[in-house]
Amino acid sequence: MEPNPMCTALSAVKVLRLEVGHLFSTLSAGVREEHGEEGREFITEIQNMLTTINQRYREFEQSVMNINIPSGSLMLANSSYLGQESSTDKQNLYSPLVRSHKWTDKVHKYSIIAHSILNANSLKKSLIFTSSFNKRKRPLSTSQNVTPQQMDSFISSMDRLFPDMSFSVSRSLAANTIVQVTLSRMLQATIAFRGLIIEWVVIKGYTESSNSPTDLMTESRYHVFRRITDHAQAATLHFAMPTFHEISVKSFLSWLNSYSTLFTSVCKHCSKHSYDCYPPTWRDFKTCDPYHFECKP
Ligand SMILES: [Zn+2]
Repeated sequence: MEPNPMCTALSAVKVLRLEVGHLFSTLSAGVREEHGEEGREFITEIQNMLTTINQRYREFEQSVMNINIPSGSLMLANSSYLGQESSTDKQNLYSPLVRSHKWTDKVHKYSIIAHSILNANSLKKSLIFTSSFNKRKRPLSTSQNVTPQQMDSFISSMDRLFPDMSFSVSRSLAANTIVQVTLSRMLQATIAFRGLIIEWVVIKGYTESSNSPTDLMTESRYHVFRRITDHAQAATLHFAMPTFHEISVKSFLSWLNSYSTLFTSVCKHCSKHSYDCYPPTWRDFKTCDPYHFECKP
């Protein structure tokens, strides 16, 4: 196949620049020992280089002659209107425009690579995956729009998975589900869902009665559970996954389940039950180990 004349010309420029660069670096290095006492060798070397440069220059000229002059104007789409711009500060927009096009191309390329990497590893990042869960076909869609029936079946599967927890579902608005989770005889969590995304969590003591099962505004009257509410809010953000919402809910519930030993476990760091009158209210997101908030790693 005939090489493109433009490519040939560009390679000729490259070769010419290389030769000239070589000449200048030799000149700046000066006469060396191997050039002899009078430096005649040096002059011969420079002359040879100049001859090569002349030759390369002729080749370059020849390759430029072969380039066809494009007929008509080049198609630059909307950027060609930049040439009609009369204000001087806008006339220099062409090169930033080209740079931003290149940048967008790169972003696109990297996002494709990142997407394929994330797709390959997303399931491995979850904390509580069991192989059986991976193999089983996931019954729920990853969208936020889940039907009440799908939500109910998801909650009942969670009920089976966590024997210490009991779940009760109520719906104040059609799409929003509020789930009341009672963990042993320890605490109650009111969780507001939008689709399968946890939007809000309030933790209260087991003995605290609330005015309504959908009450998300009243906080616990105990400092301990108010503190755990804060940790639970942080946990929902930590476990949030952009596409696998049911996995993030499962991870969150698994983390919450570790509070069944709130008043009996000792802090993993200081090995004490109480610090500043608080039990170990923090649970590590990865290991679910108990820590005082002040002792957490
Ligand atoms: Zn501690």
